[in-house]
Amino acid sequence: MDIKSVKEKIKTVIDEKNIFENEPMSRHCTFKAGGNASLFVIPENQEQIASLCKVLADVPYMFMGNGSNLLFADEGYDGVVVSLGNKFSNIEVKGNEIIAESGALLSKVAQTAYKNGLGGMEFASGIPGSIGGAVYMNAGAYGGEMKDIVTKTYCVGESGNILEIIDHQFGYRHSLFTDSSLVILKTVLTLAPKDKAKIKEEMDELNKRRREKQPLEYPSAGSTFKRPEGYFAGKLIEDAGLKGFRVGGAMVSKKHSGFVINYDNATATDILNLMEQVKSKVYMQFGVELEPEVKIIGR
Ligand SMILES: Cc1cc2nc3c(=O)[nH]c(=O)nc-3n(C[C@H](O)[C@H](O)[C@H](O)COP(=O)(O)OP(=O)(O)OC[C@H]3O[C@@H](n4cnc5c(N)ncnc54)[C@H](O)[C@@H]3O)c2cc1C
Repeated sequence: MDIKSVKEKIKTVIDEKNIFENEPMSRHCTFKAGGNASLFVIPENQEQIASLCKVLADVPYMFMGNGSNLLFADEGYDGVVVSLGNKFSNIEVKGNEIIAESGALLSKVAQTAYKNGLGGMEFASGIPGSIGGAVYMNAGAYGGEMKDIVTKTYCVGESGNILEIIDHQFGYRHSLFTDSSLVILKTVLTLAPKDKAKIKEEMDELNKRRREKQPLEYPSAGSTFKRPEGYFAGKLIEDAGLKGFRVGGAMVSKKHSGFVINYDNATATDILNLMEQVKSKVYMQFGVELEPEVKIIGR
């Protein structure tokens, strides 16, 4: 990609102060590892997103939320990363509905639901992602999934047009958005009235369980692999004797074998090599193919 000419195009839409060249993606991903994006752009409003989609039509680009399910290869991403963060974090409550912009953090939306006595979001309060990333992934935990509460999503299509999606085609860590280049702008969550004390009790209990079971003290992207049908990835990895297994600075967590952690200044290559070895050892021992849940970019 010719960075200078693409930057000139983007400058017709976005203020130069919000365009960054060769941006280290380790700064923006919870794994705290990985290479640079050729260009990193922060739009400020919906119109800029729509115009960006048109301007970037013949350039590789991707949108990101909180970077909690992403790993950029050390070689970097020769394209444009568009970050939807706090400029798109408005949360509005209308009766039993919460309308949340894509950059709003799940923890904040869950707090809003709690304060308004609306139940259904408790499962998501400890997931460190944004609404956009959670809808894209159909994020879930402790028996709940985004598909249970998402009723409508507004997004931008390739030609910059705004679309309203009702049928999200949700599956396990999958949605309509996973197979498309649609950009999620905001989502309507339909919740149900619930006793506030009960909501708080459930959120506190689930977050306590996370702190006890998950290595939250180390950088990671959560569960590294998807749950293979009929198995648990963490159990397979542990049974393969890989608890604490290390490649460079990357390690299979000793606390939860489903998490690969950045134990000691890991590079993305350390993490990817560790993942490859875990995959092949689990396959050799149990004949089960592990598929990454974390999105690997630039390889
Ligand atoms: C400690 C820890 C615990 C976790 N626990 C869980 C858990 O319990 N359950 C679970 O499901 N996940 C969990 N995760 C993973 C992660 O938090 C979720 O997948 C989350 O939904 C990702 O959201 P994000 O905003 O960080 O997305 P990102 O990582 O920024 O992006 C993820 C994908 O979504 C796309 N995307 C993001 N925003 C948009 C948008 N606006 N429009 C179009 N595409 C978009 C990106 O292109 C990318 O492909 C955990 C992660 C960590 C670090």
